[in-house]
Amino acid sequence: PARLAELLARWAPDTRPPLAGSGPHIGVADLTKALAQGEIMPWYQPKVSFATGEWLGVEALSRWLHPTLGMIPPGRFIPLAEEQGLITLLTERLIEQCLQDKAHWQTSGLAIKLSLNISSSSLVEGKLCDRLLEQCRQKGINPNLITLEVTESAFVKDLGHSLEMLSRLRMHGFGLSIDDFGTGYSSMQQLSLLPFTELKLDRSFVDRCHEDPVRLAIIESTLTLARKIGLRTVAEGVEDKATWDELARLGCDECQGYYAGRPMPQDQLLPWHEQWQARAPAR
Ligand code: C2E
Ligand code: MG
Ligand code: MG
Ligand code: MG
Repeated sequence: PARLAELLARWAPDTRPPLAGSGPHIGVADLTKALAQGEIMPWYQPKVSFATGEWLGVEALSRWLHPTLGMIPPGRFIPLAEEQGLITLLTERLIEQCLQDKAHWQTSGLAIKLSLNISSSSLVEGKLCDRLLEQCRQKGINPNLITLEVTESAFVKDLGHSLEMLSRLRMHGFGLSIDDFGTGYSSMQQLSLLPFTELKLDRSFVDRCHEDPVRLAIIESTLTLARKIGLRTVAEGVEDKATWDELARLGCDECQGYYAGRPMPQDQLLPWHEQWQARAPAR
């Protein structure tokens, strides 16, 4: 059992703790209050080019800044929001805040793209596309600069409806990313059916891939597949230079991981960029 736990920890590092498990109990009332008081906000993690080191975009990752419990990670409240029907409101707030930040970057001459995580319930809820379009129009943002990240489990539930929603979003110009690629199921079928523009290799394959021939083989063939069907490739969870070098060698397009930068509040992005420019690996 100890060995099994070790294996599980290695292969599924993203597994979320049970809600009632570690840490103080968080209930639906706490979450409702947090949303009302604006305690949940986006942090941003940079995405950079493996080829040039250039800063290409950010992924918005929700953080709950609780007045007494401190920072609560999304793994502890997103599933709760989904179960309790609060995810639509949460996503709506997130979209508004993120697009406002994006508009602000735009006016200060910063041409970075924005990626947003979308839950299955938000995807099939119906109003997502209209909300996004309305916010883009209001804030003068081209939908081409926004990418929506969905996990395989998000569209596996209702493939028909998901296909309809994703096609509609794509038609309006939004980028579509298949998140955590390799951890779900039926990925090949979905890849062939859904109008994706980007593929994100899951952290469990990426981290120190150069040390493991099996993971390396999976990554290599996935990158080849993605290239052949015209998808941009992103590696998530690149934590060190050795992993960076390997993925750069294999021709992966974008890096997202602690090696380049951790998720951070929006006001830390510019200072981060200055430091990154000084230490980005030279070509
Ligand atoms: P994700 O979309 O796959 O996001 C990547 C996760 O990997 C983030 O965890 C990020 O902080 C973490 N990460 C990035 N680079 C590294 C690295 O080098 N090492 C390690 N150890 N971790 C790294 P985070 O922020 O805890 O988010 C977890 C998940 O929660 C996300 O996974 C996403 O599925 C979900 N999530 C976050 N924000 C939102 C949101 O606003 N809406 C929805 N629906 N889901 C969200
Ligand atoms: Mg994501
Ligand atoms: Mg991911
Ligand atoms: Mg992941």
